[in-house]
Amino acid sequence: MSNPTEIARETLKQLMTRRVPPTPDHYEAIYHEIARTPDAERLHPGLRQIIETLAAQPNQTPEMQRQIETLRQIAIEENWPALPKQLFSCIENQGKQIALARSWSDLIRDLIRQWDLRNPAYPASRKKDALEKVLINFGTDPAILNEKVAGLVRAWAETGSEGTAGPAPVTESIPAAEAPSSATIPGNASWTSWRNALVQALELGIEARLAHNPELQEEAANLANETTRVENEAHLQSLIARLRKFWLRLELQNDQEMRLCDGLLNLLRLMTDNMAEVVIEDEWVQGQIAVVKQIMAQPLDMRLIYDAEAGLKEVLFKQGQLKHNLLEAQTVLKDMIATFIDRLGSLSNSTDQYHNKITVYADKIQKANNLPSISHVLEDLLQDTRSMQLDVQRSRDELMEARQRADESQQRISELETELQSVSEKVREDQLTGALNRRGFEETFEVEVARARRSRQPFAISLLDIDNFKKLNDLRGHAAGDQALVHLVRVIKDMLRPTDVVARYGGEEFVLLLPDTDINKAVSVVQRLQRELTKRFFMHNNEKVLITFSAGATLVIQGEARDDVLARADQAMYQAKRLGKNRVEILLANSPNPLAL
Ligand code: GH3
Ligand code: MG
Ligand code: MG
Repeated sequence: MSNPTEIARETLKQLMTRRVPPTPDHYEAIYHEIARTPDAERLHPGLRQIIETLAAQPNQTPEMQRQIETLRQIAIEENWPALPKQLFSCIENQGKQIALARSWSDLIRDLIRQWDLRNPAYPASRKKDALEKVLINFGTDPAILNEKVAGLVRAWAETGSEGTAGPAPVTESIPAAEAPSSATIPGNASWTSWRNALVQALELGIEARLAHNPELQEEAANLANETTRVENEAHLQSLIARLRKFWLRLELQNDQEMRLCDGLLNLLRLMTDNMAEVVIEDEWVQGQIAVVKQIMAQPLDMRLIYDAEAGLKEVLFKQGQLKHNLLEAQTVLKDMIATFIDRLGSLSNSTDQYHNKITVYADKIQKANNLPSISHVLEDLLQDTRSMQLDVQRSRDELMEARQRADESQQRISELETELQSVSEKVREDQLTGALNRRGFEETFEVEVARARRSRQPFAISLLDIDNFKKLNDLRGHAAGDQALVHLVRVIKDMLRPTDVVARYGGEEFVLLLPDTDINKAVSVVQRLQRELTKRFFMHNNEKVLITFSAGATLVIQGEARDDVLARADQAMYQAKRLGKNRVEILLANSPNPLAL
């Protein structure tokens, strides 16, 4: 029987047949009997709903499930007195479980905090993936969602904090393989050497080169310091992030410097182009400008720039000289013209007077009626003529002399000009220090090589580079730097033998040419110089300034190119810089490596 109306009718029949009082309970019991309703479903719909709701609560512990089952049993058995107590016990249990779940507001607050915190084991992308998985899988059930999200936040917090090295709790949404790696850094040798290499790169390669940007320099130093202290994975990851930021800033800075350099070059190019236009007639200046332009056309190199600077200084010096001589010649000419006008004046005066006198004498002669009076007149005339002749003579002499002086100064000017032209090709000395310049060095080198070949004596050279010269310039100014160079050359010249030669090779680089000198003697010459510099200080503003230099020494091999010798000396000099400066290193042509002393 399945029709509820029929069941109801049959129930009423049975109530009468069985003569039981027609109470709702009796009615219900007989109704279910006829309908064959299973025991569990015989409950009152309200009661059934209560039990089902309790059973549907998430996160049922086994204890809770047992309690709900007992409640259902009591209801089925219609043990009404026991029911309220059991019902309360179930609800109490559920409340406890709900209290365990995080309040959403706390959870969201924590989630945001952990989301923003940098966590090397869970980069932002990984957090996003995990959260998305949780939302997709559990988004429809707030309670489970709450629990899963709380699990995620817990996992992030535990791996994010430094020093908590344990593996992160794995929730369903994070596959085990993706769990953050063990947080401790392996203490093995290769890790240590990588770390040291990074520290060195930061300190020697980066920090040392950032003197012009104190802020970046400090950051490089901080990063180097931080690198030495890295102990765990999280720390390493945060260091890597900082390094990345630093590289970006460095690149930006580099870019700016390149642009600055390009800008300056363009400016210089513009100026030299313009100068070439203006000074068309002066071949000598034209030549120098051509040199500067040629240098700018090549990749920039400190030595080339020094050459250009030296060339320009020569131009300025020679132009100054020329100007001085021209002024002198101008004065001479002016004097000469003044004398000439003066003489011309007196000449015309005397000719005027002579003219007048002649007229007077002619008058007198006409009027004279006896010889003695004529002879007087003639005598006077002769006298006057003689003095006028003398005047003329004197004027002529003076004019001749002035002209000769003018000719002479003109001659001197043109001589000077030709001399300047030829001298510019022959300047062998550095204007500032009096050491040989590059041209002088090259010529002397060839002469000494030839002499060494004839005498079969060793010929040593040493390249010196002042230590931390930029700092001295920055601290005391460029002029002080210049004076320091002068001081150094003075000391060198005092210490060297008469046959030795010092040449300025670049800005603050010098070459010593040491004929008849073997390598050990060359080294002791350089070391003696270094000792002398510790005694003879460079004085600036009444302060003693210690100047040191690093040097490379080598022997010249017969027949080899000058540049090869210098490259070897240069390499040895850099080795001296690397080993701490203020020292000398040797590199010989036949030794594969710089030989430490
Ligand atoms: P290091 O010990 O490594 O040689 O340091 P440094 O500062 O000497 O090195 P660097 O070669 O980088 O700098 C040389 C500086 O010398 C650059 C330039 O400003 C300066 N300089 C070059 N020529 C002259 C000059 O004629 N006069 C002055 N005052 N400074 C010069
Ligand atoms: Mg240098
Ligand atoms: Mg230097």
